[in-house]
Amino acid sequence: MSTPSILILPGDGIGPEVMAEVRKVIDWYGAKRNVTFDVSEDLVGGAAYDAHGTPLHDDTMAKAQEVDAVLLGAVGGPKYDVLDFSVKPERGLLRLRKEMDLYSNLRPAQCFDALADFSSLKRDVVAGLDIVIVRELTSGIYFGEPRGIINEGNERVGINTQRYTESEIERVARSAFELARRRGNKVCSMEKANVMESGILWRDVVTEVHQKDYQDVELSHMYADAGAMQLCRWPKQFDVIVTDNLFGDLLSDAAAMLTGSLGMLPSASLGAPMANGRPKALYEPVHGSAPDIAGQGKANPIACILSFAMALRYSFDMGDEATRLEEAVEKVLADGLRTADLLGEDGAQPVSTSEMGDAIVAALEASVA
Ligand code: NAD
Repeated sequence: MSTPSILILPGDGIGPEVMAEVRKVIDWYGAKRNVTFDVSEDLVGGAAYDAHGTPLHDDTMAKAQEVDAVLLGAVGGPKYDVLDFSVKPERGLLRLRKEMDLYSNLRPAQCFDALADFSSLKRDVVAGLDIVIVRELTSGIYFGEPRGIINEGNERVGINTQRYTESEIERVARSAFELARRRGNKVCSMEKANVMESGILWRDVVTEVHQKDYQDVELSHMYADAGAMQLCRWPKQFDVIVTDNLFGDLLSDAAAMLTGSLGMLPSASLGAPMANGRPKALYEPVHGSAPDIAGQGKANPIACILSFAMALRYSFDMGDEATRLEEAVEKVLADGLRTADLLGEDGAQPVSTSEMGDAIVAALEASVA
């Protein structure tokens, strides 16, 4: 197979700062593990607008369609708030997601032992937590027609439509079952089949896909509101949760916060397999461009580094190397290193973005010594 290719789009604010630390990790893999990538870099968001007058140049879009994985930092910032909606930095990211047809959004909620006291839940509820929420990303109520605000009689009516086709449900269900096979082999599907026809169809199609091709994976169903309660009560009962766009939006944010700081949360958005069998893929931290701390060396690079770990696992079939990287992160946290966002009340001194990146590379180095 040809050298795996990655397009890096650092973006705005802290995006370039955290991405610089990912570059150190990528360089380490090249130098020490003989895992080389064909890496190219380009602009997105406000940075692309400044250079080209558009948040995503057509050439960049074309490159994104060709590579094996896109790694994005973050977009946006107050400087761009005045721009017309059509050229706002976020439009660059939305265009990437839409044109790459990234329908399966993976949001892990993983609690590193050293940070268990950071959660708003009790230590024993979250310590060792490792679940993934698979959210359908390209359909459902955010896209369904009809939509709008109309006049009816003497008042206005707001309308959005929840709409799912069988094939849309089937492909995201497959993505969840495939993921579960690489993890704890359990999928819990969440909808509201008790009150929504789209929920009834969702449950039917997930069950059919399971019956047909994934009987080795344990499948359960839960109403999404009960799922929200269970996520707060005992999240470790789950392995993979698959759900629609709206419920996934809410549940993945709630689950992510079980584990502490925004600076720790990676994500992957996957689409259909390409000719080489790899899925179309975009990896990015969940956080934004954090203008309040940009340029100060305070950003936590771990979310972006863990996003690269997801790329190793899901795009490049290097699960062992992904685990090595996750363990390196766990090691530096266990050693007590903290960026400012992870500091408790104990008065410890924070490390900078680059010190955190260097420490993770040193832990990688120690893992092969
Ligand atoms: P944000 O995620 O940028 O920041 C929220 C808070 O979390 C801030 O206090 C910030 O300092 C902190 N934070 C975020 N990431 C951190 C990190 N890695 N290390 C330490 N602290 C971190 O969200 P926001 O303030 O609502 O948005 C800022 C800009 O980012 C806006 O322009 C918004 O549109 C954009 N945004 C972009 C994305 C994206 O690119 N995917 C996502 C969300 C927001």
